[in-house]
This record gives sequence, structure tokens and C-alpha cells, in this order.
Amino acid sequence: MQAQDGRAAVLINRMGTAGAGQSAAVPDAMLDVDALVLGYGIGAAFMPAVSGVSFSVRQGETAALLGPSGCGKSTILKAVAGFLRPAAGRVLVGGKPVTRPGPDRAVVFQEFDQLFPWRTVMDNVAYPLRVTGRSRRDAAERARHWLGVMRLEHAADRFPHHLSGGMKQRVAIARALALEPAVLLMDEPFGALDPQTRLRLQLEFIDVARRTGATALFVTHSIAEAVLVGSDIVILDGTPSAIKAVVNAREVSDPRSDAALRVGQEVSEVMGHDGGHAHGE
Ligand code: ADP
Ligand code: MG
Repeated sequence: MQAQDGRAAVLINRMGTAGAGQSAAVPDAMLDVDALVLGYGIGAAFMPAVSGVSFSVRQGETAALLGPSGCGKSTILKAVAGFLRPAAGRVLVGGKPVTRPGPDRAVVFQEFDQLFPWRTVMDNVAYPLRVTGRSRRDAAERARHWLGVMRLEHAADRFPHHLSGGMKQRVAIARALALEPAVLLMDEPFGALDPQTRLRLQLEFIDVARRTGATALFVTHSIAEAVLVGSDIVILDGTPSAIKAVVNAREVSDPRSDAALRVGQEVSEVMGHDGGHAHGE
């Protein structure tokens, strides 16, 4: 999705039948999702979940994938991660087709139990680095660095069961970022947190993403979250789902700003909600 500078905060790009073919035209796209058709089951039992979705995410930006529960957000993320093979279309990361999972696409899930319970925070972050070929010393240095980025140095020697849910999610983010992935994939990572912690982590995420230049695909069903974390908001709708609109949210960095309110109202209108609920779930 190309930035269209010099225009109002909200740019709604109604993509009709999914904007197939549009993504490949975006320069410096780190992630290209191109005419993707996804579903479950094979042969006559194939059940489509996503019908021809195209969008792209530029280096250093975050696309928020927004839609109601069951609309296929996680299914798209699974295809980008390489866990699910497309029925049609393709995913490109850094211009290369995705055929299997890889450390260039680190995933953060909603569940608090995604950490290794028998490893310390430090080892949780260092372990995937070891597995992907780093020396013990290099892995330890990088792990320490990324724990620092997430302000978790003090928790390095603790075990997951001694951490709050918010801390666990921050460790999971540190672990994902430590792989220095081309694209960070986040599937409702803050969905199980209380509202205050959730807002704090959203703000921390956008700050860290900006400072580190991370490119991310962030799945959420919360309008407020999409407005805050997304550079673009890709709105899904229907069964099987297609893209209803893409809304530019680059101007939003503060959840209480006029820009956040404006973009939230636009998104609500696209989704067919009453604008007054823009900041609800
Ligand atoms: P979301 O993440 O937007 O809530 P999902 O991508 O998880 O939605 O699911 C989209 C559709 O695909 C739903 O109808 C869901 O029931 C179906 N689905 C998801 N995972 C599977 C699976 N492993 N097997 C069969 N159907 C699935
Ligand atoms: Mg999901």
C-alpha cells in the first residue's frame, strides 16, 4: 500500500474484489500478499476461508489486519508464516516466494504459554538464535541487546512462570525481534491482557518498531488497536473473506489524538459500526 502524501489523514482505498495484482506494483515492499486464496481441507472437502486477498507492507511499516473473529486473519498470517500452503496466489518476503516456515518470519501469538517454561527469559531469547546457527557468545550478546530494547534486562534470569502476562508477551516480542526477521508476524499478541497493560504494550510496540525499523503484520479484531499500531489498516470482511478497504493510519501515534479519533471513525464506518464505538473493542 503506497503512502499518498499530502492528503488528509484518512485515505480509504476501496479495493473492490480484492485488488488482485496491485501489490506487486508497490516499490520497496518487504511483504507482498498477492491474490491469496486460502482454506482448509482438500478436494471436495475444501472450505475456502480467504478469497483473493492482496496487500503489501513496506519496509519499516506495520500493516494491521482487522476484521471480526473467524474472518480469516490468522489464516492469512499462517500462510505468510509458511504454515499453510495457498490454494492460489502467493506470498513474497523481500521479493522471494514463501514456501515454508523460516526465521525471516518470526511469529508472536496471543497465548502466554508460547515461552519455554523450563528456560530463563535470557535463554528463551537466546535459544532460537542458537538453533539458527549463532555461536553461544553471539546468541547471548544479541539476546542481551534485545532484552534491553524491550527493557527486560532485570528479568533475564527469571523463569516464565514468575512473569505477568504482559511481561511474557514482551519476552515473546524480544525473542521474535532478536531473530531480526524480515517481517514480524503478530497474531493478537495483546488480546489476553487487561486494557491498561494492553495500551502500554501497544505504545511500547510502536516505539520499538519505529526505533528498530521493524516491518510487521499485526492481526487484531480491535479497531482501537489497529488504528494505533497500523501504518495501514487492511479491513477484511465476508465469508470467505476479502479486503473491504485499506485505511492509512500513519498519522496516528497517540490514542487520544484527533487523528486517532478520525481514523477510528473512518474504520468504523467501513466496518458498518456506529462511529461512537471507534475506541471500543
Ligand atoms: P480469525 O483469525 O480472523 O478469527 P481464522 O483465520 O482463525 O479467523 O479462521 C477463518 C475460518 O477458517 C473460520 O471459519 C475457521 O473456522 C476456519 N479455520 C481456521 N482454522 C482451521 C483449521 N485448522 N481447520 C479447519 N478450519 C479452520
Ligand atoms: Mg485468529
